This record gives sequence, structure tokens and C-alpha cells, in this order.
Amino acid sequence: MENENFQKFREDTLQSLGLEKVNSGIFNGKWVTTANKSKIRSMSPIDGLVNSEITLAERKDFDGMVRNLSRVFEEWREYPAPKRGEIIKALGDALVKDKTRLGALVSLETGKTVSEGEGEIQEMIDIAYFASGLSRQLYGLTMGSERPHHRLYEQWLPLGTIAVISAFNFPSAVWSWNAMVAAVCGDTTLWKPSTKAALVAVGVMKSISETLSNLGAPPIFGLMVSRGSEGGEWISNEPSIPLVSFTGSTATGKKIYETVSRRVGRVILELGGNNCAIVSNRCDMKLALKGVAFGALATAGQRCTSTRRAVVHEDIYEEFVKNLKDIYKKVKIGNPREPGVLVGPLIDRKAVEGYFSSLKEAEKEGGKILVGGTVKTIPGLENGHYVAPTIVEANPNMNIVRSETFAPILYVFKYRDLNEALRIHNNVPQGLSSAIFTTDLREEEVFLSARGSDCGIANVNTSTAGAEIGGAFGGEKETGYGRESGSDAWKAYMRRQTVTKNYGMDIPLSQGVKFEV
Ligand code: NAD
Repeated sequence: MENENFQKFREDTLQSLGLEKVNSGIFNGKWVTTANKSKIRSMSPIDGLVNSEITLAERKDFDGMVRNLSRVFEEWREYPAPKRGEIIKALGDALVKDKTRLGALVSLETGKTVSEGEGEIQEMIDIAYFASGLSRQLYGLTMGSERPHHRLYEQWLPLGTIAVISAFNFPSAVWSWNAMVAAVCGDTTLWKPSTKAALVAVGVMKSISETLSNLGAPPIFGLMVSRGSEGGEWISNEPSIPLVSFTGSTATGKKIYETVSRRVGRVILELGGNNCAIVSNRCDMKLALKGVAFGALATAGQRCTSTRRAVVHEDIYEEFVKNLKDIYKKVKIGNPREPGVLVGPLIDRKAVEGYFSSLKEAEKEGGKILVGGTVKTIPGLENGHYVAPTIVEANPNMNIVRSETFAPILYVFKYRDLNEALRIHNNVPQGLSSAIFTTDLREEEVFLSARGSDCGIANVNTSTAGAEIGGAFGGEKETGYGRESGSDAWKAYMRRQTVTKNYGMDIPLSQGVKFEV
């Protein structure tokens, strides 16, 4: 029965978006279809079965797209920024109408719950509206010149065609954080999505390109589904792409960084996290439990900001861990489209293998599984990739604790004083998100001070997961380089030009230098 219902959901979702059978994975002003192109299959982790197929780009498609997007850039950069903003706002409006069906597609292909799938599209809407407002605020600074009759100021100009390489776990939101902001800055964007969630990219691009075309706006976004290493290589080596914004694992990000740096290109790198929550003995217990549970369990632990470690004060350790275990035993795992289900599947079989190999390693190093540690078989969805969320009592010096496993595994440790908690917290190579649960003002301020959290994101009394688009998003250390989304992250998508104008009758030189001819 479960299977039949799910099959019906699949058919309805694909049909509502026109994504049945074979879909082109190449949008270059129009959808490029060639019968004999190689294809990938879009799978659903919910039942492990095929959704539909997508054609892959070849080198010549990439070259054509770079040429076309460069041409479109020459047109788009002539639009006044607020006019670009109006167009991006209209994209947001169109996404409001498409939210339910695109949200369903996100669920289908990534296994997110209904609210998480729709939340992904809401994030796109939010960033479209944010970018639209931003289009009137691309401010440069004005400085007083040291020379008489001179004016000195900065202005920001568009960069060109940028590339976005996105990960499977935020299959459309991360693209929009980059692309919507880049668009109001005057850039065009080439998108290479993850092959594990490429149908979402096709669905989103259908909606967006139709809206752009209805508005009479130029096709500023291109889509290229390709195998990761192949497309990533083309993009990283392409000298006419000034910025590559990459979201994905640290291992892949390092390769991209090396290649793009060799040609002195720019990167934004949003890589792996290993996020920790400090739970103080002065916390609000109910709040801390909910915050840690959400952080560790949401999206089945497949968020870059998922809580992977909890350092708990020794005075409340037993009580906190017992309560958390109770939540884990109660939480509903299964078809994420069903009401009440909070934990869906992992993305694929390889992710399930990763879950087991990390647990094996943890046990070998002395960790103790307190709850979970098994596969979950969901009746009617036997080919889906479900695992039981797991808590491991661990030692912070274990090797496995220092690496990211993209699965619902939470390591818990005890601490005695805040300095020790902070040492444990910061003692990993990654630096994305962090949290402290405390009602003590001093503790929270120490956590937020220079000797506190070393991460790009620091939260007080809320989860490591669940960022808003208004803030600049990104991490430190091996999590990468640069910021996306809100605040002044837009500056990464533009080039800064310092302008000096002389309106005098002479050319006085700076620093008192004399040059008489
Ligand atoms: P991944 O590294 O496997 O893939 C990411 C992208 O890189 C995909 O588009 C993939 O096709 C492409 N790719 C694969 N091999 C490549 C290569 N050799 N050269 C160039 N591109 C290549 O990551 P994933 O499994 O899709 O996503 C999970 C990872 O992403 C986790 O580590 C997670 O923490 C990270 N992530 C980070 C953030 C962040 O903001 N910091 C956000 C989301 C995900």
C-alpha cells in the first residue's frame, strides 16, 4: 500500500512539472535535446526507484553555454541594477506559485520531509526578495582625497559569468543564494548541480526560465547537468569564469580550489561541517533537548550545519542523554511525505555504507552506541535508504569524531568547565556552525568572544542547523572560504573599482611626490 501511494505521488509530482521520462539536463537559452546523449537516472531515496532520466552535457555544450552566457552578460550588465531587481522579484513571485510542486520534487529526489522540501523553495523566494531590495543598495564608499580638487570613491561593477557547483542536500536553495544575488549584481550564472539531485535543478530551471522569458528578460541562467568530475573540471579550468562558487565535500572543494587558484580565479567554498553544541548545566533543558534533537535529526543528519557533536556539562550529562535517547526512540522514521515523520532516508546506498563504516570506526576507537546503529526497514519501501539515528558516547580525541559523516550520528561528550568545552568544540578541522545552550550571560559572551567558537556561524539557545538567508553564510578552517546569501556577501559577485577624479587645473601627486616636466 505504502508503495502504491508513493508511486502515485511520484507520478503526480513528475507530471505536474512535466518531468516524466527523459529530460534535457542542458538549458542554454533553450533546452538542448540530442537523442544520443548519455543519461543519468534520477532516483528517489524514499523507495530506491527511478524517477526519470536526464541527459548529460558534453564539452561542446559547456563551451556553447560559456559563449552564450558571456553574450547575455553584455546585455544584462546594461540593465540598471534596480531594473534587474524587479526581474528577480518577479522570479520570487513565480516561485510562490510553484512552491508546493517544486517542494514535492525536492522531497521526491532528496527524501526531505514535506515542510523541509517546501522550506527549500521558501528559501529561494526569500533570497529573491532580499536580492531585489539589495539591487538598490550596492553601495560604494566615498573617501576624502589628500589632494586638492580631487574626488576619491569606490564603485562596484559586475564580474561576468560566474559558476555555481551545488551539493545534493540543498539542491536548489544554495544555487539561489548565489544566482539571485549575482543576478542583481549584473552577472550571469552557469549552474552545475549535483548528479544526485539533478531533477530538482531541471524543475527549478524550467520554472525560472519560463518566468524570465514571459518577462522578456534575457536568459541569464544556464544549467549544465554533467558528471561531477567532468563538469567541475571544465568549469575550474575555464579562464572566462571569474568566480566559482562551490558547495560540497571538503575533499572535492580542495581540488576545485587548487585548479581555480592556478588561474588566479576567485572561489567561494562552502564545504563540510562538524558542528558542535555546548550544553551548559545552566541551560533551559527543554530548549536544549529540542535544539540538539532538531540539529542532529533534521534532514536525517544531511545538513552541512547538522549537529554532529554535543558537549554536555557533567552535572546534567546523565539526565540530558537519557532525555535525548527517549526522543530518539520516539521519533518517527520513514516516508518523509507522511505526516508526523521527522526523519527520512539517506540519499543513497553509499551514504548508508558511510554511516556503518563510521560507527564501526567509532566502536573500534572505544565509542559506545547508546541508541540506533541499525538499518531501518520501512514496510512497502524496502529499497529506500533508511537508518536509525544514532547517539555514540565518545571521547573527543577519537579520530572519527574529527571528520564529517553525512548521516544522523551524534557524538556526546562530558565537560567540566567552559574552557574545556570550548577546547573540545574547536578541536576539529572544520568551522561551519556552532551553538551554546545556556541562560548564563557570561557563558554566552565567552562563547561569542575571540576565545570562543571558531566557526562562521555561532548560535545561542538555538540549533546549529537552520540558518536564515539574511545573514552571511559560510565557515572557517576546512569548511572553506567566503560567504554567501545575505549581509554584504554580494561583494563577492562584483569587482571593486577605486576611482580618483581630478577637477583642478594641475596634477598634484599623492605623498608629496614631485614630477615637473
Ligand atoms: P560532493 O562533494 O560529492 O558533490 C558536490 C558537487 O561537486 C556536486 O555537484 C558534484 O557533482 C560535484 N563534484 C563531484 N566530484 C567533483 C570533482 N572531482 N570536481 C568537481 N566537482 C565535483 O558533495 P555532496 O555529497 O553532494 O554534498 C555533501 C557535502 O556538501 C557535505 O560535505 C556537506 O557538508 C557539504 N555542504 C556544505 C555546505 C556549506 O554551506 N558549507 C552546504 C551544503 C553541503
